[in-house]
Amino acid sequence: MRRGTLLIHNGHETDGVTGALGVPVVQTSTFAQKDVSVSQEYDYSRSGNPTRKALEETIAVLEGGARGYAFGSGIAAVSSVLGIFAAGDHIIAADDIYGGSYRILNTFYKRWGLEVTGIDSSDPENIRKALRGNTRAVFLETPSNPLLKISDLRACTGIAKEAGLTVIVDNTFMTPYFQRPLELGADIVVHSATKFLGGHSDVVSGLAVTATEALGKKVYAVQNGFGAVPGPWDAWLVLRGIKTLKVRMEAQEKSAGILSRALAENKNVDEVYYPGLAGHRGKEIHDAQSSGAGAVFSFKTKTREKALAFLRRVTYAAAAVSLGGVETIASYPVKMSHAAVPPSERERLGITDTLIRISCGLEDSGDLVEDFERALEED
Ligand SMILES: *Cc1c(COP(=O)(O)O)cnc(C)c1O
Repeated sequence: MRRGTLLIHNGHETDGVTGALGVPVVQTSTFAQKDVSVSQEYDYSRSGNPTRKALEETIAVLEGGARGYAFGSGIAAVSSVLGIFAAGDHIIAADDIYGGSYRILNTFYKRWGLEVTGIDSSDPENIRKALRGNTRAVFLETPSNPLLKISDLRACTGIAKEAGLTVIVDNTFMTPYFQRPLELGADIVVHSATKFLGGHSDVVSGLAVTATEALGKKVYAVQNGFGAVPGPWDAWLVLRGIKTLKVRMEAQEKSAGILSRALAENKNVDEVYYPGLAGHRGKEIHDAQSSGAGAVFSFKTKTREKALAFLRRVTYAAAAVSLGGVETIASYPVKMSHAAVPPSERERLGITDTLIRISCGLEDSGDLVEDFERALEED
């Protein structure tokens, strides 16, 4: 089965009880137990809920994993997965992962005894250099946020495997429609389902998929123990979003290509970062591990004033945090997604006050190009 078909036919295309072409929203906290001496599949919705289960099984199928788990947000998925480690464990993390992931690792989990080393994962050898006796995991994100840096997943997982590490990959930007990290050797995939999977900027949700049952058991213990689960309505919204993932990813990627090429030629733009552009650093590696470039790109204007003026003037892009919705979003990483990263660290990573990140939506690309060019013009 090809990926587009799998989005529709993944085991949850009809409800087993009624034949409904949609998963029922089982809005309940608890379940009546027929015989209290026998455990039944569902007893309490934190531990398991049929609507959430449908989403969990769907994402596991799409990522090609053994088990899927749903959470109340992407960061709840990240935090819960990190919860399988113990005080004294060492984690190697790409230094340009999502700002919130950076924050939870370097504040909360540091306080609880995790040791963290940040590396530039675009060179896989940096994993080997950061290895310690107590290293347990590598946390990667490719393309990264917000400069779309590429990490070679096959090479990174190869080095990690030699050292017996668990490889976690945040696959939010690509979704399983364009990239499947488990097939490239990763052990756990995490998602902010708030973004492309939900796809309509109307739900906050997160997912994790494990390659093995054994890792699945560990993540389940945290899901049930921490309890950062989504409600059934939110799980249902993500399931609904997934049904149209193919057409959204393809159309939004196409627009991102057109818009990024137009900006690359604009005299007020310094640089454009998009794996779909010829000359993007790591493009060959990206093309070898993904079937699409995605719909997120970033660009730097010549000056800070130009960036701020663009955000004020642009009409068809909401100046907002987040990405992956049907509406185009322009965000300003310095003040938004990466506000939690210390200024010196931001500077080192190239996250400047001239940088704007775009998530291309479903508007007509001709309108987006005209609008962006107008918003970048001199007064
Ligand atoms: C948004 C995002 C997250 C966090 O997800 P939330 O749903 O906002 O909690 C994690 N990783 C990436 C790449 C993201 O874009």
